[in-house]
Amino acid sequence: MKAIVTGGAGFIGSHLIDHLLKENFKEIVVLDNMSTGRPENLGHLDKEAPVKICHVDISDERVKLETYFKNADYIFHLAALADIVPSIENPDTYYKSNVHGTFRVLQAAKKIKGLKKFVYSASSSCYGIPDHYPTKENSEIRPEYPYALTKRMGEELLLHWGKLYKLPVVSLRFFNVYGPRSRTSGTYGAVFGVFLAQKIAGTPFTVVGDGNQTRDFTYVTDIADALWSAAKASISNEVFNVGSGNHYSINHLVDLLGGKKTYIPKRPGEPDCTFADISKIKSLLGWKPQISLEIGVRKMLENIDYWKEAPIWTPESIAEETKSWFNALS
Ligand code: UDP
Repeated sequence: MKAIVTGGAGFIGSHLIDHLLKENFKEIVVLDNMSTGRPENLGHLDKEAPVKICHVDISDERVKLETYFKNADYIFHLAALADIVPSIENPDTYYKSNVHGTFRVLQAAKKIKGLKKFVYSASSSCYGIPDHYPTKENSEIRPEYPYALTKRMGEELLLHWGKLYKLPVVSLRFFNVYGPRSRTSGTYGAVFGVFLAQKIAGTPFTVVGDGNQTRDFTYVTDIADALWSAAKASISNEVFNVGSGNHYSINHLVDLLGGKKTYIPKRPGEPDCTFADISKIKSLLGWKPQISLEIGVRKMLENIDYWKEAPIWTPESIAEETKSWFNALS
């Protein structure tokens, strides 16, 4: 079996590759432009592992994706730009990677004979601030910023290609993914990287608002398992939420991590809760999450050294970094 993993050197992609190797894939081709992916994320792989890493930008017109895609059984399209602040400042790069990049991958996938499944990694940010919790797949789509919008546009392209060109596609909407190898450097991003670096430095955790807001924190190996479950199922043209089946407050997360807190202002456009209704993926794909937040956090703390080089955010540096977020959405 041959799999293509775009974004395979990224956080989720690298865990998917571990999973596919356990499933005995004989050929895995990684396409990654290494803008946020890192070869070190795959550094733990056995030298004999059948994984070919190609330093390629999926949105680059000069790249002939068809040559990499020949005889592929599965495409996992994970390459994308994440993070909110840079998407507000540079929507063009987000459009190019997340929309045009997806368009090019879909166009090349059309030419593969016998493709079994095209799996797209979508984002729960498409729901914006939803009316109902747990949130179902048929809830209103309300992206709040370019990152969310461009991921949703990629999903629309996917579903359209599925219907019109009969591509066997599935989209998975991930909720707050965390785990080893989540990004450690660069822009202000997901809460785990921020808090773990603060824990190492012994500085207080920068809790947003009153910390009572909750998130559906989903462990990355559960995500990898969901990607493979979607690929191997005979179901196509469907969208599934992927969440932990639970939601936890930031104050609870701080209790699990252990340390002092400091409070920073609530961010515009951010929901007080994210909580996926996962009944659809459970019943149609037979997938269910395995890792609770307590176990997940323990695993993160066991590997905390990974975040040694990560930036240590303070209320002041966060205020500076998120200025354009507040200016755009307040
Ligand atoms: N959060 C926090 N302190 C931080 C960064 C984030 O308390 O320095 C909170 C934030 O308010 C949210 C949760 O952690 O409730 C997850 O934030 P993240 O940016 O990781 O994801 P998102 O808000 O997009 O769900």
